[in-house]
Amino acid sequence: MRMERKWAHESLNMEEVEKFARDYMDFLNNAKTEREAVKYIIELAEKHGFREINSVERLSCGDRVYCVLKGKAAILAVIGEEEPKKGMRIIGAHIDAPRLDIKPIPLYEDGGIALFKTHYYGGVKKYQWVNIPLAIHGVVALRDGRTVEVVIGEKEDDPVFVIPDILPHLGKKKQESRKGTEVVTAEELCIVVGNSPVSGNKDAKDRVKKRVLEVLKEKYGITEEDLISADLEVVPAVKAKESGIDGSLIAGYGQDDRACVYTALRAILNIQDIKYTCVAIFVDREEIGSQGISSAQSKFIDLFIAKVLEKYYGSVREADLLETYFNSRAISADVSSVLHPLHKDLHDDANAAMLGKGVVLVKYTGKGGKFGSSEARAEYMAWIRKILDKREIPWQSGLLGKVDVGGGGTIAIFFAERGIEVVDMGPGVLGMHSPYELTSKADIYATYLSYKAFYEEE
Ligand code: MN
Ligand code: MN
Repeated sequence: MRMERKWAHESLNMEEVEKFARDYMDFLNNAKTEREAVKYIIELAEKHGFREINSVERLSCGDRVYCVLKGKAAILAVIGEEEPKKGMRIIGAHIDAPRLDIKPIPLYEDGGIALFKTHYYGGVKKYQWVNIPLAIHGVVALRDGRTVEVVIGEKEDDPVFVIPDILPHLGKKKQESRKGTEVVTAEELCIVVGNSPVSGNKDAKDRVKKRVLEVLKEKYGITEEDLISADLEVVPAVKAKESGIDGSLIAGYGQDDRACVYTALRAILNIQDIKYTCVAIFVDREEIGSQGISSAQSKFIDLFIAKVLEKYYGSVREADLLETYFNSRAISADVSSVLHPLHKDLHDDANAAMLGKGVVLVKYTGKGGKFGSSEARAEYMAWIRKILDKREIPWQSGLLGKVDVGGGGTIAIFFAERGIEVVDMGPGVLGMHSPYELTSKADIYATYLSYKAFYEEE
């Protein structure tokens, strides 16, 4: 039997829920890549009085600072009443999402069609990406130091891109013999980028490819070789929308983990009179295991925290950093799986979270015998429960699915390795990692309230 959980709607101010949902959808539509997310976060932070940490001499209570790592990750901090070594309140969320990256040498022509080759990033179901509208977002870096920003497919009159599937009339034999996960293979995830010949010599080879290169040069000033130094991501060219006849849901791309990014951001922007120094960490590379300099394992996090200490105390030793970590508490802000009404066999009913029943507190993630998980301590779980209940925030306990059915991890382990007590908490998502994920408006707002409570409660 499930422990009784109430509808989040019944304890929340639904006007606030609707207002927050609209702001959240604006974020989803304007932050489809990690670079765009960082830009959005910093613009909003600066409006709320945050300054780049290197521009600040000394820090004291109430000061608001941030840092950005090479445009791909960001950290925000607000100094509390207590000295920072007494511990910080840290929320970490990831700004990367599953997608298709364009290969360094992507362009080729075959059968009169020009295509870009891609390499999928993160846990995608490849068959979900064919015959849907796609957009290209990213940057092309030139040898002269300039960077060309590219967004094609988002404006009303922009062209979009499509990966063509096989027509059912011909696909039967070829695709039915394949395993479900390989109905569309990785190397078949090529987007169509052109189908017209360059003018001039009619006997020349690759005239369609040459026409695409001509347009790239005209419109963006880039050459084929420039694509070698580019971060170009293919994402769904869809806008986040209200969903359901009752309008209670949000459909959108990248809600894992932008649901937590946005709620954590709004929480740290709005906190008041905090006792402990509050930190929001927005990292990249989570979907591929948190490797890389913009990931949760990166030393840029430690460098930022050390700078906060140095600018507060005047100097910092390594032991101060460790002491700060061991006195700190963190939330690994990531989305949770929820009970799927058509696939209930995958869940342990009592331990499955439900859409619309509030923010999900996850004691542990991992695979098999809890491998790859940092489990939250009983006492820490109790403290979190206490602060949620004190503010009457709708929450529920949840686990990913049945033991041994699957598994997954979050950035929680990388906080734990630093000595920071941590637990996973975030809203549920239906259709996670798909091009168009579903969340509950009420859960999103409950998540915001829970992060704000975590920052403010003692
Ligand atoms: Mn996630
Ligand atoms: Mn994920």
